[in-house]
Amino acid sequence: MYEFAVTPAVTQIRRRGVEIATVAPASLAEELELQSGDRIMKVNGRPVRDYLDFRFQTGGETELVVDVRKANGEDWELNIERAEDEDFGLGFEQIVPRQCANECLFCFCKGNPDDARPSLFIRDEDVRLSFLYGNYTTLSSITEEEMNRVIEQRLTPQYVSVHATDVEVRAYLLGVDKERADISTKMSRLMNAGIEIHAQVVLCPEINDGAVLRRTIMDLAAFHPQVKSVAIVPLGLTRYNTDQRLTAVTPDFCRRTIAEVGEIQSELRQRLGTTFAFLGDEIYLRGGHAVPARAHYGEYPQIEDGVGMVRSFANEFEKLMRKLERQAPVQPHAVYGTIMTGTLFAPVLRRMIDRLNRRFATRLSVVAVDNLYFGGDVSVAGLVTGRDLLAVRSSVAGDFVIIPRTMLKSDEAVMLDGMRLEEIEESFGLPVQAVDFKAFSDLITAKLAHPGALVSGAAVTTAVAG
Ligand code: SF4
Repeated sequence: MYEFAVTPAVTQIRRRGVEIATVAPASLAEELELQSGDRIMKVNGRPVRDYLDFRFQTGGETELVVDVRKANGEDWELNIERAEDEDFGLGFEQIVPRQCANECLFCFCKGNPDDARPSLFIRDEDVRLSFLYGNYTTLSSITEEEMNRVIEQRLTPQYVSVHATDVEVRAYLLGVDKERADISTKMSRLMNAGIEIHAQVVLCPEINDGAVLRRTIMDLAAFHPQVKSVAIVPLGLTRYNTDQRLTAVTPDFCRRTIAEVGEIQSELRQRLGTTFAFLGDEIYLRGGHAVPARAHYGEYPQIEDGVGMVRSFANEFEKLMRKLERQAPVQPHAVYGTIMTGTLFAPVLRRMIDRLNRRFATRLSVVAVDNLYFGGDVSVAGLVTGRDLLAVRSSVAGDFVIIPRTMLKSDEAVMLDGMRLEEIEESFGLPVQAVDFKAFSDLITAKLAHPGALVSGAAVTTAVAG
């Protein structure tokens, strides 16, 4: 483990090498007597900082000299010969994100209650996590070493929070000086080296909307196809972020933005053959608009940022309905349960579930869960906490409860406020299934065939981790 869980970019202090977390049975690593707790220090004389380095430096190499610091302090030098595609069978410690050096007006950390979990205050800004998981970075404090690494190791694509190409506006939003805010040279350098970029704009009314937004989209479009897409997502204010410089997003603002950006999208589709600049689902839902059709989203380039999730869900739901039509339901009225989601998506989901109930005589209800924890205009399912769920306990009906998997941590059955899934099950006195759409579809299909069917505990865990 690193000595400091989170440290600023420039002063990051960490132990050298990368720690082995797991060794697969009967693997090359086991044959080499590597064990969890050992650290890989160098490969072919080059220092290893994390598992990305290990992967890069061993990739395609059949003869390797690996320096290992054993857990007991011994230093080993391993001379290894392996087949080109032979896997080591090693799992490594997680990458510890480095922190940003910005003071963004809208930073989510400012919207946390004081007693929120420490991990909610991590201001990660890490090109490695951008490549691995699609986390956004601003590039404003990227070091020369990191730039070189992205290029050398081809950490592409990179997800970049641009917010505005007008440097003055960007500097204001990021709370940094104009020199740091100007990332045009860095972006050009990355793009010239073949690194693709997906950009993001957090849209703040009266700051980077209107003409500033138009210019941002057009400036970025000039770099298409190196800049692959732009996601435009609305500012989210909790009750704790009371910065007077920020103006809340309203349904009117959403409608205006849909109209303005709609014109730009048509223009770009003609010119580039892609929508290129995508509005987040939240903007359509809050503006009272239907989300665009499947073709609008192409390959769903920024679905993880809430761009196209609703369309994708709706299309998958239609497939589920068709699949259920082909299957003869057994005792459908016995499928009796509650689905909980955030207030933003609940009305859309309720319309779908009502159709399912009418067609197949199931008894499923949708409960919209208010976000009492963060308050403000936070309405997405992914920010619902355990205590928010408990607050709607009286609305639970039936034999089981379904919640979106996004309500849990990606690698653990724990809600944002630290409440465990089992605690919620205990409070409801019912099994609670945390599902993505695939697991939801499987569950409904299985229940219509066998009303008593439940996703097993192991399956829930897989769904959560997967
Ligand atoms: S880049 Fe801005 S929004 Fe992101 S963590 Fe840093 S201060 Fe917060």
